[in-house]
Amino acid sequence: MKIKEKKKFNKREYDREHYRRNRKAILRKTQKRRREYYHKNKESVRLQQREYMRKNKEKTNKRRKDYREKNPENARKYYNKYCRLNPEKRKAKSLARKIPLKSSCEICGDKDNLQRHHWRYDKPFLINTLCSTRHSVQHLKKF
Ligand SMILES: [Zn+2]
Ligand SMILES: [Zn+2]
Repeated sequence: MKIKEKKKFNKREYDREHYRRNRKAILRKTQKRRREYYHKNKESVRLQQREYMRKNKEKTNKRRKDYREKNPENARKYYNKYCRLNPEKRKAKSLARKIPLKSSCEICGDKDNLQRHHWRYDKPFLINTLCSTRHSVQHLKKF
């Protein structure tokens, strides 16, 4: 029993030393693995991120606001880029604002977090009411 414990301890010591010596390489490897995981599981990672953002709306909004305040230049650039890349989407969204939402999600019947979904941005008035979860799924399928 005693010997076993000693071995365990030594291994931990060794790991710590190993980590200290190869910190950069280990970090690089972890990052690489994370990147690979992201590329392989893009859809589920993005869905998870959206789920997290939906559940932590206040935290996410605050973080966004802080970022905007600290990096107004970057935020503006990012927003301009977004508008440039999605002019149809922006136009369709503002036109569809006049169309009232239905009382529940048209896929699952959920009554919370309802949003307008465009099947095509060149048909701004063709929308369906979806809950945010089903909505993200539709977009992940599309892109
Ligand atoms: Zn739904
Ligand atoms: Zn949509």
